[in-house]
Amino acid sequence: MQALVLDNLTKTYPNGFTALHGISLAVEEGDFFALLGPNGAGKSTAIGIVTSLVNKSGGTVSVFGHDLDRDLNAVKSCIGLVPQEFNFNVFEPVVEIVVNQAGYYGIDRETAFERAEEYLKRLGLWEKRREMARNLSGGMKRRLMIARALVHRPRLLILDEPTAGVDIEIRRSMWAFLRDINRQGTTIILTTHYLEEAESLCRNVAIIDHGRIIENTSVKSLLATL
Ligand code: ADP
Ligand code: ADP
Repeated sequence: MQALVLDNLTKTYPNGFTALHGISLAVEEGDFFALLGPNGAGKSTAIGIVTSLVNKSGGTVSVFGHDLDRDLNAVKSCIGLVPQEFNFNVFEPVVEIVVNQAGYYGIDRETAFERAEEYLKRLGLWEKRREMARNLSGGMKRRLMIARALVHRPRLLILDEPTAGVDIEIRRSMWAFLRDINRQGTTIILTTHYLEEAESLCRNVAIIDHGRIIENTSVKSLLATL
């Protein structure tokens, strides 16, 4: 089963700038996949299209066999998104942010609370559950967004530059958590501009530059060519 298939995906923004010039790639279920590229390459645009936050100009997107154009709700329920920008209500308590997200997916509050407890504990945030999100450090906010993205138990977790601005110790613990989640069966795709991050976490990688995929291979063979 393929978790994600992009076929000839294009994006031209309203100002006429073409951010994606027909990208194609496939990510197998269970993979830990890096979309690697410099700032401005088109990573967030691609992620935005898959998570239906950005309209595509052309091409197709399929998530676990569901076509984005025909089956948006099925696609959405398969995906958990950790965006680059903090986009939660900073005046809400940590646990509420996670529990309320479950409401978007029709999950009852009791189940939502059990899952919030599980993920907040695993991410080292349980002691902070009653704090307003504004009182969390940057690394804690990032981990809160990971817990929120997992509460509906998505088959595919997508993270946009998950460790940007996170200090090394927290980064390591986030990496360990993501490896665990992947081992338990969740397919993970992350965008990054750090080769080191792709190297230590991912099995397969696509390199994107100026809106084009210039390499798509295993991380092992990429490292062998460097
Ligand atoms: P990355 O995530 O790899 O840094 P982005 O997908 O954010 O790249 O951006 C790709 C290109 O598209 C950049 O040149 C960026 O300036 C441009 N871009 C992004 N959003 C818009 C927009 N709303 N309108 C016009 N250009 C945009
Ligand atoms: P609202 O405008 O009511 O906040 P959104 O559509 O922006 O609703 O999404 C609500 C929350 O769900 C946001 O925090 C957003 O980050 C997250 N989200 C948006 N799209 C997806 C998706 N495809 N999968 C998982 N979470 C998503």
